[in-house]
Amino acid sequence: MTAPSDALDLRVKAELVRMAYLDSRFGAPFGMVVAVIFAWATYSAFPPSVVLGWLALTLGCNTLRLITRWQYLRQAIPLEDTQRWANWFTVVSAASGLSWGVGAWLFYTPQESIYRVMVVLVLAGMTTGASRLLAPIAAANLSYLYLAICPLVVRMMVTPDTRSYVLAAMWLLYVSYITVAAVQELRALRRTIRLHHENASLVGSLGSAKEQAERGNRDLSAEIARRQIVESELRAASERAAAASHAKSDFLATMSHEIRTPMNGIIGMLRIVRDTPLTQSQRDHIETAATSAETLLDLLNDVLDFSKIEAGRLELEQIAFSPTAVARSVADLLRPRAMSKGLEFTLELDPRLPFGVLGDPTRIRQVLFNLIGNAIKFTERGRVTCGLSCDVVDGSSTTIRFAVSDTGIGIDSVALGRIFRPFTQADSSMSRRFGGTGLGLAISQKLVAAMGSQLAVRSELGAGSVFEFAVRFKPPASHLEASDDSAPRYVPPKLRGRILIVEDDRINQRVIGHFLKQMGLETGLAEDGIAAVESALREPWDAILMDCHLPRLDGLDATRQIRARHPRRDLPIIALTANAGKEDRAACLAAGMDDFLTKPVRVELLAAALQRKLPPAPPPEGR
Ligand code: ADP
Repeated sequence: MTAPSDALDLRVKAELVRMAYLDSRFGAPFGMVVAVIFAWATYSAFPPSVVLGWLALTLGCNTLRLITRWQYLRQAIPLEDTQRWANWFTVVSAASGLSWGVGAWLFYTPQESIYRVMVVLVLAGMTTGASRLLAPIAAANLSYLYLAICPLVVRMMVTPDTRSYVLAAMWLLYVSYITVAAVQELRALRRTIRLHHENASLVGSLGSAKEQAERGNRDLSAEIARRQIVESELRAASERAAAASHAKSDFLATMSHEIRTPMNGIIGMLRIVRDTPLTQSQRDHIETAATSAETLLDLLNDVLDFSKIEAGRLELEQIAFSPTAVARSVADLLRPRAMSKGLEFTLELDPRLPFGVLGDPTRIRQVLFNLIGNAIKFTERGRVTCGLSCDVVDGSSTTIRFAVSDTGIGIDSVALGRIFRPFTQADSSMSRRFGGTGLGLAISQKLVAAMGSQLAVRSELGAGSVFEFAVRFKPPASHLEASDDSAPRYVPPKLRGRILIVEDDRINQRVIGHFLKQMGLETGLAEDGIAAVESALREPWDAILMDCHLPRLDGLDATRQIRARHPRRDLPIIALTANAGKEDRAACLAAGMDDFLTKPVRVELLAAALQRKLPPAPPPEGR
């Protein structure tokens, strides 16, 4: 195989050979004409046989050149034959040169100076012309030159004449000059041809690069079209997913509503019973039942929460609460469970804990419930401790560290890395032995993260575990806002006014009616939206408690109608609904309601809402 540069050299050489053959169309005929004229001029001075013999030789050599040229041009010459044709060319050129050399030898005579001059002139002209025309093949050029001139120089040297010696020396200089010029000419020719080829191959590679770029462009356009199709498919899929997620949210909202309504009834009824005269043990049972119902509601909320967290829709409340009370309520709820397993259960409360802080008590309760519940579940003997300590207290905030420790089975280091993942347990035999879904820690961790902290765990297999987190709380606007469990039981304020309860559920009607009675308020009832509008327009109510889901006309439309037709623009209408979402609140306010309470309603919150709208009851007479 030929290397690329060798191949190029060969092509350059072939072109030079071709150039030499083409140019010989001038050289050979010209040489023949000059030979004839020279023979005619010398014919009378030299023996005819010498002159004619030389003419025949010269004409023959030039004819040979023409025949070789014709042979070369009549066929396509393969590259590998280049050297052979170059050799031929050299041979015929050398023969031609020699014929001139012979002529110079014969006609350069010491006697006739005119012939000497003729010989010198003709030879100078012939070799100068040849050095240009034969330049493409160096061997041909130089052999022509040397064979034409050397005999003359030798002849001059042997002529006993000083002028001839001088002439010989000048000829030698001339030959050297012509040789250098021929070499330069050949070099220039080679360079030009080589450049031409390199340009051609550059143009070729530019062309193929352009073709490649065009192919790339076509591929790119096809790729863009493909991507557009994939994008539109993705968009459609994402729209489908959004619709599915919407359906899931609707389902969860409905579930939440449907379960909250009966829970509202259960919790409300238990509270009513709690406020009647009871024996201590009855009271304890009722308290436990109420707390359990609330826990059940909380658990339901857990599942809903997880979905909310997953959908990125978790919202934390910022209300005043007592961290001590929250910890106590969880401890009270779980202590019986610990005791039934023979475990020691301790609640360690830092005396520096603030009475009230601003935050989300439900979420704190939820996390503690999960951590303490787990600690009891995974401990067979020993103790479970829940500790609340004040880490940092400054003027504007308090950091409270919550730590739940146990002396239970512990968690190995590999499982520690995955227990916070949803639906994951340290070991799969756990769910059989201890029950559980593996959801609790996942929710707790996200809730704690939403409060700006991190749930950390230290554990040793067989020795126990410690789960802890520290949350920074702001103080509430007023310390009175937070209530402590150790404080006397809540007594609602006495208010003055007539309240219309708009509610279709019988149990809720009784629960709300009972709370309002505790506040000393008069009440009326409307069981659907139309009745509510009529009653509102007919009677002078001081406030309306409006359920949202009502027969005939829902609470939102009823509110709109009341607002449009009632002469009192500031008649307080408070939503009281099982739909607890942010969007539900916004819808109620947009329909014209003033406030928003969720079911199961706590008497404290209901009283606070009404207290903002109604005057206090006058002090009892006689005081
Ligand atoms: P569940 O308790 O419902 O299984 P969690 O998410 O609350 O779900 O806990 C996940 C797993 O972490 C548990 O199954 C248990 O393997 C491990 N774990 C959690 N708390 C403890 C603990 N106090 N001691 C030992 N293992 C624990």
